[in-house]
Amino acid sequence: MVDFQELRRRMVMRDIVGRGIRTASVLEAIGRVPREDFVPDELRKAAYDDMPLPIGDGQTISQPYIVALMIEAAHLGPDDTVLDIGTGSGYAAAVLAEIAHRVISVERIAGLAAAATKRLATAGYHNVTVIVGDGTAGAAQHAPFDAILAAAAGVEVPKAWVQQLVPGGRIVLPLSYPGGEQELIRITSHGDGETTRQSLGAVRFVPLV
Ligand code: SAH
Repeated sequence: MVDFQELRRRMVMRDIVGRGIRTASVLEAIGRVPREDFVPDELRKAAYDDMPLPIGDGQTISQPYIVALMIEAAHLGPDDTVLDIGTGSGYAAAVLAEIAHRVISVERIAGLAAAATKRLATAGYHNVTVIVGDGTAGAAQHAPFDAILAAAAGVEVPKAWVQQLVPGGRIVLPLSYPGGEQELIRITSHGDGETTRQSLGAVRFVPLV
């Protein structure tokens, strides 16, 4: 029997705390979500490896450290409503659901969305709604959002996301540059369309379609 709880505890210390993540709510959330339940059966033993893993349809579940980095940068609170772009396996949505009040997660591939919906329900996350659709349009019917996180890299920040943020809201997303490099960015809204932008470093994500 693999002791997943022990593997998870070690992963948090080695890969998350070890790389400088200090926000208690983020460490606790990653320490609670059973990542082994969000990967294909044959990869359960690799669930706490320090890397993204394939989840089918050419997509990946993000590396745990990257999920932690993005959520820490989003400065989430317990009353926040969060938009998660690119549900994939549902893992990041589950971590968000541990911290925030409500999570809306959008996935363009219906099969992935259906599998994630099932996993999230089985794991007991009742504050997550998975929607099938194009996340670049945001989710106007559930706006405004305190934070928007994207797990796929686009070439620009979709205008709808900025419009669907509360004043003071944050977007954390990877941007792709010509030549193939990607940078993780945090956009903070100051209301009336004004935003500021900070770099969180180089990353590697699947493309936002
Ligand atoms: N957060 C996920 C990571 C999934 S990878 C996890 O924890 O497992 C990124 C996902 O974004 C893929 O599933 C891909 O299908 C999805 N995606 C890409 N472009 C999209 C778009 N425009 N709208 C919604 N989902 C999109």
